[in-house]
Amino acid sequence: MSYIKRFFLFISDLLGFKKNSSYVKSYINDANVKSSIYMSFIVIVLELWMIIRNTNTYIIPGWAAAPNKFDLIYKLAGPYVLFLICATAVLVFAISYFKKKNYKGFFIANIVLSALCILYPLLLVKEKLDFNTEKTIVNSITTLLIYCSLPLLGAAILTNTLYKNKLNKNHTVLSMLVIILFATVCLLFGVKVGYSDFANPLYKGDSPNFDRLKMITCFLTMTIFVACLLIWKPYISIILLTSIFVIFLRLLKGYHGREFLEPDEINYITFLISITMVAISIYQQRVAEARKDEKLMYDAKYDRLVNLYNQDYLCELYEEKCHIDSSFYSKANFLFINLSQFRMINDQRGVDEGDKLLIKFSEVLKEVFTNDLIARQADDHFVVIIDNEAYLEKINQLNDKLKELVGNLFILLKVGVYKPQENESPYTAIDKARYACGIIKRKPEELYSIYGDNIDKEFKKKQYIINNLDEAIKNDWIQAYYQPVVWSVNKELCGAEALARWIDPEYGFLSPAEFIPLLEENRLIHKLDAAIIVYVCKKMREAMDNNRPVVPISINFSRLDFELMDVEKILEENITKYNIDKKLIHIEITESALSGNVSLMREKILSLKNKGYAIWLDDFGSGYSSLNVLKDFTFDVIKIDMTFLSNFETNEKTKDILDSIIQLANKLGVKTLTEGVETIEESEFLKDIGCQRLQGYLFGKPFKLDDFEEKIEKKQFIVSENIL
Ligand code: C2E
Ligand code: CA
Ligand code: CA
Repeated sequence: MSYIKRFFLFISDLLGFKKNSSYVKSYINDANVKSSIYMSFIVIVLELWMIIRNTNTYIIPGWAAAPNKFDLIYKLAGPYVLFLICATAVLVFAISYFKKKNYKGFFIANIVLSALCILYPLLLVKEKLDFNTEKTIVNSITTLLIYCSLPLLGAAILTNTLYKNKLNKNHTVLSMLVIILFATVCLLFGVKVGYSDFANPLYKGDSPNFDRLKMITCFLTMTIFVACLLIWKPYISIILLTSIFVIFLRLLKGYHGREFLEPDEINYITFLISITMVAISIYQQRVAEARKDEKLMYDAKYDRLVNLYNQDYLCELYEEKCHIDSSFYSKANFLFINLSQFRMINDQRGVDEGDKLLIKFSEVLKEVFTNDLIARQADDHFVVIIDNEAYLEKINQLNDKLKELVGNLFILLKVGVYKPQENESPYTAIDKARYACGIIKRKPEELYSIYGDNIDKEFKKKQYIINNLDEAIKNDWIQAYYQPVVWSVNKELCGAEALARWIDPEYGFLSPAEFIPLLEENRLIHKLDAAIIVYVCKKMREAMDNNRPVVPISINFSRLDFELMDVEKILEENITKYNIDKKLIHIEITESALSGNVSLMREKILSLKNKGYAIWLDDFGSGYSSLNVLKDFTFDVIKIDMTFLSNFETNEKTKDILDSIIQLANKLGVKTLTEGVETIEESEFLKDIGCQRLQGYLFGKPFKLDDFEEKIEKKQFIVSENIL
């Protein structure tokens, strides 16, 4: 952009020519309506005071002799009453503007006051409009103008009051009109009072160059009032103030009864400049505030990337709808939409392409669900609340459009549907729709899944697990079971693996498959693993105190543990507290845990190793980066995954592979353990190829600690002499 263009843009923004968003407009409008509350209140007090002062019968000259007292009062207090009515009407209007509910009192007051605004100018017939002398011309014109503005103001308030609910946008326009008319009346009033004072014949005799302009302050006050309390666009402030000052200056200079002195003129112009500057700076300040506020409001409600609602705002809107129509929930259906395999596009074509697709998909969502509430929940997840049962047709439509969008990419649409209960939180409803959606995640042929009774049972169980983890730890519903690890050469016990079990009073025995992945998903796994550390150390201390034999125990760790807690610190604390030899604790980390942030994991593992803990690589061979893992980390033992043994009998290659792995490990100076040994053939083969440790049902399943110890005591497990 050229400098000239930029300069013009800057100036046009400075002068307020830049178009404001509707949010900024209504922000400024609200600020103006609020200011008019203070303005009108002050005017009311002033006018009341003037009316009381002017109608004090003790000081009114000729009160007793006056033939028509009403006329006299009107003459003395008429303009103030007019202004009083105007200000009261504005005050009531402004207060009721901010009330969301329609209060009857406000309604009536608005009607009465707007009627007065319309009717009061009828008294104009009483006023003698005189266009003959310099002084009376100005007085008559301002009076006429004020009397014209007032009914318009009344009409605007009346329309607004009667049609408030139907107008919406015009509601703002009308309130702007009320404020503009109020400002007009104020300015005209200032001119009228200021001028009539200047031209007051009472001062004439004082001195030919009477140098006091007492009531000019009224004019100035009114302009400050209008220009600084209300916010105008800068160019309007400039036009408004300059024209009103020029008119007034011309009137003063044109009046022949008295001289308008040069210093007065200079003061006067200085004043104009100051007020204009203040008015502009107030505008700029307010607009900056409004824009900032708008941004915050936008972020609170919308997702910036795709320009859809965010989840919180969607929930708020749903609750609002239920509040207005308490049966809304019964019509509503929550759809949780997931683009399965979306990560592929990010991985293969980059995040920018991924974003583009999300934006396009959001457009499609808006097309298909025209009148429904749509939000982006996170990533490639969307939520739609549809207020009828015709969602299947729309889901199919969406699926067709998605296929057009993604072309040959393997991205699938998955939708979970949930019908909410009365008073159910929209967040829970979304969770349930999401849960239904998750069930078909790995079923390419299924497009949608509707949350039913069976899913409900499963969902409740999962919720229960998530919500009761702390309770379970506190009440020892969670314990470690111990599975023996033996030397391959003599099958003597050389250790055990601690495997978590949850024995629940309500659901009974829960296996790790039910809670470990769930706790990982919900980033709670560290609580469980910390509890297992405590359990293992505490039980080991008890055994040692009672002179029962102990063997090294391997404890399982998830990748997330290293993010969510200080593994090393917790281990050290318990080792110290229960006075346990570090050699008795092995740390098992699965291969998949080591992908991702390699340098961080390496640092943590190295530090644990330096502290004296043995690090065991779990599930070796189950992932696809095994060999890299061996290159990047140093392990004491690798645990060969049990999947290798699953077709030991039938697949000849298995033996070669196992043999090679053991040889590779030997080369690297790493010890080996094979998991899932179930037959004597497997056990013998593994011993022959040099795998040192074995674990599997052949030697024992995971046992409750008591049973495990009993087996040791009864010599069913022979503890090896060589356990460390
Ligand atoms: P894992 O660490 O690979 O544990 C071995 C699993 O294989 C155990 O299942 C064990 O019971 C089972 N298993 C042992 N020998 C045999 C066998 O000969 N044949 C067969 N078919 N299976 C055998 P479990 O106890 O259900 O644990 C499942 C997984 O849950 C564990 O796999 C581990 O990844 C995780 N896990 C268990 N306890 C914990 C824990 O305390 N913390 C963490 N983070 N994960 C745990
Ligand atoms: Ca393990
Ligand atoms: Ca394993």
